[in-house]
Amino acid sequence: MRYLLLVFLLIATQIEAQNDDQKQINEIYKTALTNGKGYAWLNYLSNQIGGRLSGSLQAQKAVDYTKKILDSMGLDRVWLQPVKVPKWVRGTPEFAYIESDPGLTNNVPICALGGSVATPLGGIKAGVVEVQGIEGLKVLGKEKIQGKIVFFNKAMDPTNINAFVSYSSSVDQRYAGAAEAVKYGAVGIIVRSLNLRLDDFPHTGAMSYGDTPVESRIPAAAISTNGAELLSATLKLNPEINFFFRQNCKILPDADSYNVIGEIKGSTYPNEILVVGGHLDSWDLGDGSHDDGAGCVQSMEVLRLLKATGYRPKRTIRVVLFMNEENGLRGGTTYAEQASKNNEKHIFALESDSGGFTPRGFSFDCNETNFEQVEGWKSLFEPYLLHLFVKGGSEADIGPLKNDNIVLAGLIPDSQRYFDHHHSANDTFAHVNKRELELGAASMASLIYLFDQYGFKE
Ligand SMILES: [Zn+2]
Repeated sequence: MRYLLLVFLLIATQIEAQNDDQKQINEIYKTALTNGKGYAWLNYLSNQIGGRLSGSLQAQKAVDYTKKILDSMGLDRVWLQPVKVPKWVRGTPEFAYIESDPGLTNNVPICALGGSVATPLGGIKAGVVEVQGIEGLKVLGKEKIQGKIVFFNKAMDPTNINAFVSYSSSVDQRYAGAAEAVKYGAVGIIVRSLNLRLDDFPHTGAMSYGDTPVESRIPAAAISTNGAELLSATLKLNPEINFFFRQNCKILPDADSYNVIGEIKGSTYPNEILVVGGHLDSWDLGDGSHDDGAGCVQSMEVLRLLKATGYRPKRTIRVVLFMNEENGLRGGTTYAEQASKNNEKHIFALESDSGGFTPRGFSFDCNETNFEQVEGWKSLFEPYLLHLFVKGGSEADIGPLKNDNIVLAGLIPDSQRYFDHHHSANDTFAHVNKRELELGAASMASLIYLFDQYGFKE
């Protein structure tokens, strides 16, 4: 009899906890959708400040602005964490054309890849060879590549429903294309933009020369998908055409910058830290609204929503706006170094860096026990149409925090339109939907709330 009573009490407590969770999550969504602040913050970040390349004036303005907002939120502590960042500048707009016959040219939109060297002042004009990804270099061999511009034209695979899968399988030609092509004697590279649709926006992104000596580095640029189609079609008609491009980007000495951090101290376990974040830097062609202004304002909104709904966290909840995700990851690595130096115990980190679109779920990089706990929360998210709870993967800035005693997570928004914008002049505020942005913030706040309630499972 006594045993039955205990079981009954236990079940009753669990149901009550579940009801409390439902209520709190409902409050979070309601507050986000009726009184959200993230969209207005993003408007300022995008339209008053703009693209925030590491080391730029805009990046510094974004640090100042977001710190000011965090200061106004009544958090327990707000601070700037110094980070040395690489500083690459684009210079004047790039210029390129296809020369199908002497004097007969078609201009095409290109942009320098982040970290690329400039062309000689007068530009480069050379013959072109087309390859499908890095593997294509070997097929052609040195004889055919020597003295030419290599045109990497591997398109993103449209058959993957998760667009990030297609991105991952094509991004190596952008990141390592120049370092590989130079081994075959190429004088420059042009890479098809990582974009699933055909349009006129070139998409930049990080590239690396690997161990290529400074004097041998060749310029690298992205061409719009329409430009890539035209170049490929022209080459088929006449393999002897020339390509011209000019860019005057350069690398300057490292600059001083910051991660922007704010926290609410935990009432019961102040030494257990939960992080929510995005990256404050962006590329320079657009205003970085989706990548990753959205993730930054959503993360700030998480702390505001918890406060606005009257929730008092048991554990310490910290928002971190990481600097320099795009071309160095210095913010993420510095944050993890400092955390380990200060013996901080991080049990959960969540990042939003896949755009401000309708949230579909989360990915979790964690052990089986913790994934089981997370799966137990699925029904709490179903009313908000979040169905994807995926094991494996999170986001770049929180990656360096990885160890056996932390759960890393990433928000999964709908990915279909993300690469229409990503790293291009088309990543602007007008393409962020207020409601979708707010739903993402509420989803993140709800997950943070649950980890705060139930902690890391040993
Ligand atoms: Zn990003």
